[in-house]
Amino acid sequence: MSTQYDVVVIGAGPGGYIAAIRAAQLGFKTACIDAGRNKAGDAPALGGTCLNVGCIPSKALLQSSENFHQASEEFAAHGIDVTVNSFNAETMIARKDEIVTKLTGGIGFLFKKNKVESIHGLGSLKAQNGDLWQVEVDNQGEKSVVEAKHVIIATGSTPRPLPIAPVDNKIILDNEGALNVNAVPAKLGLIGSGVIGLEMGSVWNRLGSEVTVLEAMPTFMANADQQIAKEAFKILTKEQGMKIELGVQINEVVNNGDNVTVNYEVKGEAKSETFDKLIVAIGRVPNTNGLNAEAVGLAKDERGFITVDGDCRTNLPNVWAIGDVVRGPMLAHKASDEGVAVAERIAGQKPHLDFNTIPFVVYTHPEMAWVGKTEEQLKAEGVKYAKGTSGFAANGRALGLGSAQGTVKILKDVESDRVLGVHIIGPNASELIAEGVMAMEFKASAEDIGRIVHAHPSLSEVLHEAALATDKRALHG
Ligand SMILES: Cc1cc2nc3c(=O)[nH]c(=O)nc-3n(C[C@H](O)[C@H](O)[C@H](O)COP(=O)(O)OP(=O)(O)OC[C@H]3O[C@@H](n4cnc5c(N)ncnc54)[C@H](O)[C@@H]3O)c2cc1C
Repeated sequence: MSTQYDVVVIGAGPGGYIAAIRAAQLGFKTACIDAGRNKAGDAPALGGTCLNVGCIPSKALLQSSENFHQASEEFAAHGIDVTVNSFNAETMIARKDEIVTKLTGGIGFLFKKNKVESIHGLGSLKAQNGDLWQVEVDNQGEKSVVEAKHVIIATGSTPRPLPIAPVDNKIILDNEGALNVNAVPAKLGLIGSGVIGLEMGSVWNRLGSEVTVLEAMPTFMANADQQIAKEAFKILTKEQGMKIELGVQINEVVNNGDNVTVNYEVKGEAKSETFDKLIVAIGRVPNTNGLNAEAVGLAKDERGFITVDGDCRTNLPNVWAIGDVVRGPMLAHKASDEGVAVAERIAGQKPHLDFNTIPFVVYTHPEMAWVGKTEEQLKAEGVKYAKGTSGFAANGRALGLGSAQGTVKILKDVESDRVLGVHIIGPNASELIAEGVMAMEFKASAEDIGRIVHAHPSLSEVLHEAALATDKRALHG
């Protein structure tokens, strides 16, 4: 007789593990099935893409490379006389691995604390047995079945492959390989200037690689506010020395064994570059492998995402899907918040997740972060808006930090004064954006932000100034 649960979650990334914890908190007997394994492949590892090969390890490397850059280039201005003799990439990777191990282990602890049963293996929908779903677990060939009233699918995503550039994770790398390069490549190529491409490019650029980013789109960061995107492009290329080519067509990628040659064209001009390593970061695709989706009739859209309604219900009764495997931005916090919402819906509550207030962050230096509509979107929608901008250049805290580049731009509705978008490039943008999210979630007006007392000296004063600037009354502008 198989074990019965109220809720079984398939996948323990930030969507799945959070859904499982919330379901257990709400009193449901809950299990979470996950197939993930650690870097060595010798033990299960919870946390999915985000903790193992995504958000967390990439930020660890970004910090190491930023520290290297500061010690090499910026400490002298503070009167600190250090000579940086060498950089050991293996130590940086080992530090990153330690952080990953600590956090993935932490989820096991949270599962125990919340009484979530953690089951290792590949989960698939087998059949419906009355009002219970049978879920088969395949743990390296050893099969078992559990039953549950509700199933939450949170199987995430995998890197989108580029058929002409097969990944070997030695010379041609996906995001996993990119996080494990243990010597600084002299020349690094990146296909794709999305968030992952820019962050990985930044790591190695700071560590001394000559970085070239090849992007198919003619516009840099097309879905970001273009004022911010243009400022970012200028900083990354002119000041930081990254080469970013837009409107690129890749014709051929030749893995030469110890390096890789990319033949491409830009505006009809043929070009060729040979790199020591090439990172392919052209987006991610939903992962429904091994779910047995077709056999049970689980509907997917034409791009392979599991079809869900606004509440994350699939076409199958009591089967839900969240995170990267469904529509919407592929972000850890979106996955987690959908997980919480689904657990609460199962409990009969009526949670709401506003997609318009999900923040986006790019952890380059300076960071970029935004929430709400871009100026381009407001123009296209014919909204009567006003904007206010303020720079970090004259902000005392930013100058003290030695990081006084960037701008905050606030967009508001002209008639209601309501904040419609907040766009930041600047120091700690990832933290500053929380004020914009909060303001928008509470339907604040620009005047509300302008009237809130902001600590001095702080980076948040630039947001305050931008809010005042929407009304042409900036005090320092
Ligand atoms: C390099 C990189 C950097 C990133 N940085 C950020 C960032 O800074 N901020 C941010 O918000 N997002 C970031 N992301 C995106 C973020 O990682 C994803 O949006 C997030 O992990 C999605 O969570 P999820 O729970 O939907 O899926 P995942 O995290 O992909 O987890 C899915 C889990 O399900 C398991 N699984 C799959 N199929 C089965 C099955 N049939 N049975 C059992 N288990 C299964 C997988 O092994 C995995 O453990 C980054 C991604 C990458 C690659």
